[in-house]
Amino acid sequence: MSEDYRLMWKNLGLNLEAHDMLLGVLGNAYKDIYLSQKERPEGMAYFDFVMSEVHGLRIKELLDEKAAGRKIVGAYCVFVPEEIVLAANATLVGLCSGADFAIEEVEKLLPRNTCALIKSAFGFKLGKVCPYLESADMIVGENTCDGKKKAYETLGQLVSNLYVMDLPQVKTQNGRALLKAEYFQFKAAVEKLTGKAITADSLKAAIQTVNAKRKAIHRLSALRQADPAPISGLDALLANQVFFYDNPARFTASVNKICDELEKRVEEKKGAFPARTPRLLISGCPQAVPNWKLPFIIETSGAVIVGEESCVGERGTRNLTAETGNTVETMMEAIVDRYFQVDCAIFTPNPDRLAHIEQMAAQYKADGVIHYGLQFCQPYLMEAIPVEKALEKKNIPCLRIETDYSMEDAGQLKTRIEAFIEQIKG
Ligand code: SF4
Ligand code: SF4
Repeated sequence: MSEDYRLMWKNLGLNLEAHDMLLGVLGNAYKDIYLSQKERPEGMAYFDFVMSEVHGLRIKELLDEKAAGRKIVGAYCVFVPEEIVLAANATLVGLCSGADFAIEEVEKLLPRNTCALIKSAFGFKLGKVCPYLESADMIVGENTCDGKKKAYETLGQLVSNLYVMDLPQVKTQNGRALLKAEYFQFKAAVEKLTGKAITADSLKAAIQTVNAKRKAIHRLSALRQADPAPISGLDALLANQVFFYDNPARFTASVNKICDELEKRVEEKKGAFPARTPRLLISGCPQAVPNWKLPFIIETSGAVIVGEESCVGERGTRNLTAETGNTVETMMEAIVDRYFQVDCAIFTPNPDRLAHIEQMAAQYKADGVIHYGLQFCQPYLMEAIPVEKALEKKNIPCLRIETDYSMEDAGQLKTRIEAFIEQIKG
């Protein structure tokens, strides 16, 4: 990393020593997990570059945007509508929560039995190692699970710019009305932050930009239906993770470029793994950067991942926002309609998610499903049991995994996953 970056990080208030340590661990993990893969599409070079510059060039770009008068909004959840942020002349970035950091400090503020994702969000703040968090002019929290909504009360004491959005927990008319009211309130808050009123033109352009990103990811996902799968699950997950950080237009172009290459691979029957490799779907909690533990174990145990039913995956990207509206009001309605379909486990009841898992298993020709639940995540761990039962009724094997971000259980997970893959082959 250049000296310019070090100065940039220092000016952002990062703890340079701790940050060096984080980048060192990340760099090694990336090398071992990503760069060691065989038969990668050439287009993945773009994502390798993005990851190598994730705290460098991309942060510089964001700071340049800020210097030019744009605002940066950081978010932890896929319920925060990027369309509204873009339309008000701001940039949305996902905030990392995929690695343990400063755990001792975190556990002074949060109970030990809090999920790794929430602890990680706190660790990055307390350890002063996240340049995205420190660049953000507004940090958006959301009242989703109990852990998050209580944790934001404490996070609000650590940052000066937290905005908390309420979210419905039921898919009723009242639930939709709450989401609509919250999105209008959020729109007003972002407009106040940027000093720019959202217009029909700016909202339409933003909807088109975000839809284009989603369409590119849909294209990538559809190509994973092929056998042999033209791209590994690890690489596809990376594209889904970069979705939250990259410049939207550049991301769309890069994913479409990879898809051109993958289409040729499908034609030539060239895969990331040989044909008839057991195919698995992952379903459950989001896998934020750099949480690559489970896919790495799966894909080094003889299976390929062909889809992610996850917020860093198809739950987050699957529906488009209707582009037919011509007024701010009608487009806001379309945004509410689109996000109200997200079937997060915080909703009760949540039958859409089960239907989506079954549909994905069929569409991607999965031989089995691995349900990924983070330890202490009640919504997803609770749903895992009915999901497993429903899949078994349809003769789709399911393995329930409960884990965290540490590597302590890696050996045990590998043994269970290998046995599951053997069962599927049998
Ligand atoms: S799992 Fe639920 S709370 Fe978490 S990012 Fe997805 S929608 Fe938000
Ligand atoms: S929904 Fe689960 S994984 Fe997500 S923040 Fe809440 S407890 Fe953690």
